[in-house]
Amino acid sequence: MQNRPGIITRFAPSPTGFLHIGGARTALFNYLFARKMGGQFKLRIEDTDRERSTTEAVDAILDGLRWLGLDWDGNAISQFAQADRHREVAQELIDQGKAFRCYCTPEEVEALRAEAFAQGRALRSPWRDGGTPPEDRRFTVRFRAPDSDVVLSDAVQGEVRWAAKEFDDLILLRADGNPTYNLAVVVDDHDMGVTHIIRGDDHLVNGGRQAQLYDALGWDRPVFAHIPLIHGPDGKKLSKRHGALGAEAYRDMGYLPEGLRNYLARLGWSHGDQELFSDSELVEAFSLDGLNKAPARLDFDKMAFVNHHHMRLADNDRLLTLLTARLEGQDGLVDGAVANARLTPAMDMLKERSKTLAEMEVQAYFLLRQRPFELDDAAAKHVVPETIERLARLRTVLAGLGDWTAEGIGEALKAFAESESVGFGKVGQPLRAVMTGGAPAPDMSLVLALLGRDETLARLDDQTRPA
Ligand code: GLU
Repeated sequence: MQNRPGIITRFAPSPTGFLHIGGARTALFNYLFARKMGGQFKLRIEDTDRERSTTEAVDAILDGLRWLGLDWDGNAISQFAQADRHREVAQELIDQGKAFRCYCTPEEVEALRAEAFAQGRALRSPWRDGGTPPEDRRFTVRFRAPDSDVVLSDAVQGEVRWAAKEFDDLILLRADGNPTYNLAVVVDDHDMGVTHIIRGDDHLVNGGRQAQLYDALGWDRPVFAHIPLIHGPDGKKLSKRHGALGAEAYRDMGYLPEGLRNYLARLGWSHGDQELFSDSELVEAFSLDGLNKAPARLDFDKMAFVNHHHMRLADNDRLLTLLTARLEGQDGLVDGAVANARLTPAMDMLKERSKTLAEMEVQAYFLLRQRPFELDDAAAKHVVPETIERLARLRTVLAGLGDWTAEGIGEALKAFAESESVGFGKVGQPLRAVMTGGAPAPDMSLVLALLGRDETLARLDDQTRPA
């Protein structure tokens, strides 16, 4: 930690109904940078679009951030609630001659815009130098765009320059008196003491406009770091057709928050070629220098690989709780206490075999399914008169086996195959079929050890002694 408590970052989502995976990454970078510097990470909800900013839409973002473990400092700020302050600052700019009331009608603006476009420059209002206001005409408040170039030293993009003629006399307050995005963001960021803004490069041009406002207000500009957006595996801008867009969908797919944090951190940021990070390693290693200029591509295989690493490290009791919650209410499974007793000793095996909690459900199924059950077609093929007789003989061996451990069972199975003068597969395949019904499962000796003797014999009986 660098210990610069003055450092303040923020995440400023507009409520859209869910925490977008790109937004989650933006939040994570701001979070990591603040934690690294010993500063603060703040949250501001850009809820000025009243129709979209329902309680549910805001909660979805807060829930997503909480699930991802990106705790913010202080209360979440509502941008809408600051509207009076935005209007006050707009008035200050008017008073200083840096903003003005523009009485153009929408039609006039359209004509001016067309003319400006034809002349290859941005819009300039005829009201920027004053004039006598027409009676009863509504007005917008516009920024008097300066005549000098805008230069932004971006921590990711380097020096970005725009000619003065590229920026309009920007609207600051609409005709209804409501602030526009750029004014609101600058005022809020300033008032929240934000020193560093890490966000998507879809806001780069806004960065230029905002820099103009900071300068006009005589406020120190924050450090801007505009990061390339996330692309799909095909290199195209991420969209629904690439798969899930919301962080909560990754939770539902069974990713662990620390797995997703690790994966997202590496998506657009690098630290040598290190892929796997604990949370404290992330905080330790994070720096703006490591942010990449090229867009990152979502790679689901890598996401699963990274998550698997964190599954292996995760505490068994915690995983058991998460798994049990996912199983709740599913039909055809043994009830809670039995499930718990079977899963508890199986967790190490399940972690090894599952990259996500969803995979863990699949891998745990053979333990939890209620007997008697039907075998799937592939499994049923291994249960024929010849193998049924062999399994009956095996039953006797297992019923009398003293050492009911994976090791003891493994030896017994090997000895049994030898006594039958067949390869191990001739025993293992039908045994697997009747024990699992075709569900994925590990080594047979482990399967039997985990199921316990009673359940093992009962499953054998179900298939070899039909009623
Ligand atoms: N509310 C904006 C968005 O969700 C972000 C604004 C900002 O980070 O400055 O895209």
